[in-house]
Order: sequence, then structure tokens, then C-alpha cells
Amino acid sequence: MQIDQGPIRPPSEASSLLIRVTRNCPWNKCTFCKTYKRKQFSRRPIEDILRDIDTVAQVAEQVKQISWNKGLGGRVNSTVVSEAGSSYGYLHYHIAQWLHYGGKNVFLQDANSLVLKTSDIVQIIKYLRAALPSVERITMYARANTVARKSVDELRELREAGLARIHMGMESGSDVVLKMVQKGITAQHLIEAAQKTRAAGISLCWYIMPGLGGREHSREHALETASVINKGNPDYLRFRTLSVLKNTPLHDMLTSGAFTPLDEDEIVHEQRLLLESLEGVTTTVVSDHILNLLQELEGTLPGDRDKMLGIIDRYLGMKPEEKVNYQLGRRAGIYARMDDMKNPSRFSYVERIRRKIKSAEELKLELDKMRNQYL
Ligand code: SF4
Repeated sequence: MQIDQGPIRPPSEASSLLIRVTRNCPWNKCTFCKTYKRKQFSRRPIEDILRDIDTVAQVAEQVKQISWNKGLGGRVNSTVVSEAGSSYGYLHYHIAQWLHYGGKNVFLQDANSLVLKTSDIVQIIKYLRAALPSVERITMYARANTVARKSVDELRELREAGLARIHMGMESGSDVVLKMVQKGITAQHLIEAAQKTRAAGISLCWYIMPGLGGREHSREHALETASVINKGNPDYLRFRTLSVLKNTPLHDMLTSGAFTPLDEDEIVHEQRLLLESLEGVTTTVVSDHILNLLQELEGTLPGDRDKMLGIIDRYLGMKPEEKVNYQLGRRAGIYARMDDMKNPSRFSYVERIRRKIKSAEELKLELDKMRNQYL
């Protein structure tokens, strides 16, 4: 048994069941992204999607049977998960994991399935909820211009069917930066999409990309992103720091000198400027992407604003050699937060790496190499 699944989902959907509704990205032109490069966008036939849902329901029953056979009464624990995987393969493992986490969350793949007709998405969601009654929360990615094209009534229909959250790659609120990276959306699309999503009662999560403007546009990237956030007031704002990938048009700009990447400190300064420019929003800030230097930069505005600025200032206030130690430790996966530097064995392990680095150029290469291991 198998179902079609796409390559990615948001970090916060790690425990969600993945149901592929469309394949790849209908835009596929952003200069920093190569997730779907050379892959053609297509809409999956509805009957194929419904068949996948039926398959998931059958597999879920088989997984529960493993649990009954073990005297666990249908409860799926880690023993059931590993037996499902070893006896049947990946799909059983994925669905057993999903049931282990409660079987509540579903993420509809791929990059912009909201391009489907609203009635088709409603049909898929209703079928999903009928076939898998434990499902409580359904989410998807959507591009801002696609959301802006839907009416509030259509979005409300989706919410009533069960669409709980839209994950949206905002990247920047600056039209200059959005144009430079060929995002194919404008600040106005973002604002309109946010207002409609909120009016429909759907939760909205925006992903922004610190560093995307390069040194050339860092200030306007921060200030105009803050300005759009102030107007859109998304429920969640997630940092996903830029890493320039090889074989992308942005990498070509970098090698030609048209794009100058920010260093670690400049990115943190940019995040500070953005956070201090937010006003009147009730957004929850999350830094759960592995590429973010300050993973602990989290909180809900307005109450946690000073706490978050304090986290940034704590990093910026470190001595230069402490900053390098933290950067190396974070990128090597030894630190998750600054307090991890207080652990003597971890700190001295990272210090041994730091002392071997002889120049700023060597440090940059080492940090790039470490970051690339996550891509
Ligand atoms: S819209 Fe998203 S998936 Fe599509 S090219 Fe841009 S960043 Fe990549």
C-alpha cells in the first residue's frame, strides 16, 4: 500500500499526517528556492486523493490491530510504531507515528493547494474528516495572491469544513525585496490575504526570511516587513533565516556581487529592528527553524516584546570570542540556546573548534559548511 506524498511540510507540522492534494509549486520562480525546481505543477485528480485517504484509513485500522494484538486496546505507543514500521514499511510507520501523536492534525501538501476550486478543497476536507474521525485540525500552505483572490465567503466555507490554519511564505514585506527574489506577490497581496484570512476565522502563520534583502536592502526589509505585519497582524510569525543555496538564481547574484549576504550579527540586528518596529499586533513569534541562530527568540506580542529584545541584546552584548563560540556551537548542533554555553563540557568542546579557526574567512567557511548540513 502507498500514497502520494510531497517533499516538505512546515516544521510545526512534524507530527501531522501528510495528504498530497497538488504536486509541486504553481509559481516555482522564487530565486532563493529550489524545492520544486524542474518539477511540473499538477492538480491531483480528486478520486486519487480520496483513494489515498481510504488507504490511510485502512492502514490506521491495521496499526490499531497491532495494538489490540499486544493487549493495548487500540492505543498506539512507540512499540506499536516500531512494529508497524518493521513489519509493513514506511507508510504504516508514518501513520502509526501520527496516531501515536493523537491522529488529530493533517497537512495538505504541496506548495499552494489553495489554487484548487474551493468546492474541491471542501469535498476533500469533508471526506477526510468522515474517513478519519480523530482529525481535528487541517492546515495547508498558500500563496498570498491566491488567498487574496478568494472571497471571505469562500475562505469561511473552508474554515467551516475544517481548514484551521494557512501557512504562508511572506519572506518580506518590502516590494523591492519581493521583486528582487521574484516572489510574485506584493505587500498589498499579503495585507489583503491576512485581512481575509482573519475575517474568515482561519489562523494565519507567516514565514519571514531574515537576511533576504542582503546588505543592500536589509533596513527596508526589516522596516517594511514590520509595517506589513502591523497591518496584517498574523497569529504566528516564524523566522526562517536565509541560507543561499547553490544552483539558485540568488546564488548567481551572490557570486556576481549583486547580492551581499549578511553575517550572523547583521541578521540579528535586522531581527531587532523588525521586532522593535512592531506595533499594535498580538502575534506569536516562533523561531523553530534550524537555520535560526537564536532559537529561543520566541514570545507573544505585545507582552513578550521586551523579553525578546533582551534575548537579542544578550547575544549582541557578548564578547567577540563568546559570539563566535555560540555561533559555532549552535551551528554544530551543540547548543540550542545561549544558556547551553554554561555547560562546561559543551563550552570547552566548542572552544577547541574555535581555537583551530585562524581567520574571519575560515570562520565564515566553517559556519557555511555547518549550516549546509541542514539543507
Ligand atoms: S512559492 Fe514557495 S515553493 Fe514556490 S518557488 Fe516560491 S518559495 Fe518555492
